[in-house]
Amino acid sequence: MSEALLSVEDLVKHFPLGGGIFRRPRAWVRAVDGVSFQIHQGETFGLVGESGCGKTTIGRLVLRLMEPTSGRIFFRGQDLLALRGEELRRMRRHIQIIFQDPYASLDPRMKVERIITEPLRAFSHLGSRDRRKRAAELLERVGLQPGDLEKYPHEFSGGQRQRIGIARALAVRPELVVADEPVSALDVSIQAQVINLLQDLQEEFGLSYLFISHDLSVVDHLCDRIAVMYLGRIVELAPKEFFREGPKHPYTRTLLESVPLPDPHRRRPLRFPEGEVPNPIQPPSGCAFHPRCPQAVEPCRRHRPSLVHIGSGHYVACWLNQEDDVL
Ligand code: SF4
Repeated sequence: MSEALLSVEDLVKHFPLGGGIFRRPRAWVRAVDGVSFQIHQGETFGLVGESGCGKTTIGRLVLRLMEPTSGRIFFRGQDLLALRGEELRRMRRHIQIIFQDPYASLDPRMKVERIITEPLRAFSHLGSRDRRKRAAELLERVGLQPGDLEKYPHEFSGGQRQRIGIARALAVRPELVVADEPVSALDVSIQAQVINLLQDLQEEFGLSYLFISHDLSVVDHLCDRIAVMYLGRIVELAPKEFFREGPKHPYTRTLLESVPLPDPHRRRPLRFPEGEVPNPIQPPSGCAFHPRCPQAVEPCRRHRPSLVHIGSGHYVACWLNQEDDVL
């Protein structure tokens, strides 16, 4: 495969709890705890897991909206975390974000033209007439009208606002788009339209996506490869076909069982594994999933399984899939 567009290596983000300037934190929240993956040109890479598993934090770290505790991030082979000032500003143009909430992510005081052309002001030398022309073209491309440039966000539905957010993200022609739960705030009927739009735009603009979602059915539809996260770590990573044929990790299996059926008369409720997600301040010993795992055995409580390659780009962190004498 070609050189990775984005390469994340052993990324860690721990947030301090309590403490202050002169006092040490009371504890640390281990939001991301040693995550590695790569995204290739034109690929859609999905990060999926329950709320609080660390997936959104990873998106923020890739965008340099926060600094990691440790680890490395490379974009086109360039060390993203070493960039400062003007170099960082120029790099930001290549990585844009689509936010989850189309209501909160658009400034209600700005007209759509200002919202879409703002990144162009920051990252391009286009004059105002060309910026407006680009914004009108983008609006049409995402299914709105050039006349909508004169309107304010409150004049649009949720789906239309998300289209405006997509147009804004694409204004500077990024290479990688971090899409953070981009359809979860939308009605089910609108979700499919926005997902199809994202797919069309990917082809047209040659985009790569880091697609973050709690919904495995959405990720399965859109992504080439999927990483399942649990409590700050990747527990399974594979091309999506492997998830359809039979995932290996007990947590992934439970997530798949919770995917809603396409037939509205046979809907089953969205269900996550039994029990609460453990506290990331004090994650369970051994395999962090063991308190909820139906297949847990005694050694799982004491030894943490590493994410190992079991063939054909399929990685799993579970003792049941490792030739080891721990069990
Ligand atoms: Fe379950 Fe043990 Fe596998 Fe963890 S290592 S997922 S507890 S079987």
